[in-house]
Amino acid sequence: MKDMLGRNINYIRVSVTDRCNLRCRYCMPEQGIKKKEHCEMLTLEEIYQVIEACMPLGIDKVRLTGGEPLIRRDIVQLVEKLSKLTQLKDIALTTNGMLLPEYAAALKKAGLTRVNISLDTLNGEKYKEITRGGDLQDVLKGIEAAKECGLMPLKINTVLIGGFNDDEISDFVKLTLNDNIDVRFIELMPIGQAADWNTSKFIPNTIVLDRVKELVPIERSEASSPAMLYKLPGGKGRVGLINPVSHKFCGDCNRIRLTADGKLKPCLHSNQEIDVKPILRDNIGSLEDAIKEAVYAKPQQHGLGEEGCKPIERDMYRIGG
Ligand code: SAM
Ligand code: SF4
Repeated sequence: MKDMLGRNINYIRVSVTDRCNLRCRYCMPEQGIKKKEHCEMLTLEEIYQVIEACMPLGIDKVRLTGGEPLIRRDIVQLVEKLSKLTQLKDIALTTNGMLLPEYAAALKKAGLTRVNISLDTLNGEKYKEITRGGDLQDVLKGIEAAKECGLMPLKINTVLIGGFNDDEISDFVKLTLNDNIDVRFIELMPIGQAADWNTSKFIPNTIVLDRVKELVPIERSEASSPAMLYKLPGGKGRVGLINPVSHKFCGDCNRIRLTADGKLKPCLHSNQEIDVKPILRDNIGSLEDAIKEAVYAKPQQHGLGEEGCKPIERDMYRIGG
């Protein structure tokens, strides 16, 4: 459906949990999160009902995220149920990859279309440092598992952090040479744990073009994709630059979000939330109206990076990145 500005909204990002098996320094507090009452979180059936209600309104793409979506035990069942929704063209998942060796084949069989894996460094020691204890080998095995069972095209999402991984840009770019892998460099956003990080850590990802001069621009396959795309000459995969801060892509925004505790969000950077739990549990109102309300409330653009803009109240792991 169209929002108030005529943008076509056909995509919902769904956070299935706010818990995680890692503690990335820019995302999660070291001690983890305060565990919520079970009843505050949506059940699998409730998540399914919200996504199902989106179908007649023209939403045909869903991405499951978190926290870490693969720590939710019923994730394969959810994908299987969603795959029966004939209007749904795309069921994608964003993960840190740690549990993919265990789940990739089952997810593919259940109907998952593709997967994005977050990886900020190719160095084991640095990986342990940024994730506060994660093992790089688990993610690398996860990437292989996703490739083996055909969860393609595979995308690797790398958040650029000044002084941490800007020296690895060309190593990440090289991953696209021999494999059909897209590496996407994402600008660190001043939200959540990173809200008061030193400004030197926030680097525009155009630095990628300065560091790897051979990259050539190519057409975006979808107008709504936030990534500007490039290729190495002869490379099989692509390099994407996602600049939520330095070049807003709000004009092409096509999505709404659902949090694990049942709030529809019109925009990642807005504090506005529409609670669907009273609809699901007490029959107060309709899901259709709530989804339309979220779509119509989408702001023209966010104010991130502008003078006086306050960070949003929810951390990234509680919204779903
Ligand atoms: N746990 C899964 C993962 O890491 O892929 C899914 C959830 S995580 C919140 C989704 C994405 O958000 C990850 O790629 C992560 O790097 C990114 N992210 C978290 N905090 C961020 C921030 N402050 N700025 C930019 N990206 C961030
Ligand atoms: Fe967990 Fe993903 Fe946040 Fe890292 S970025 S702490 S893996 S939710």
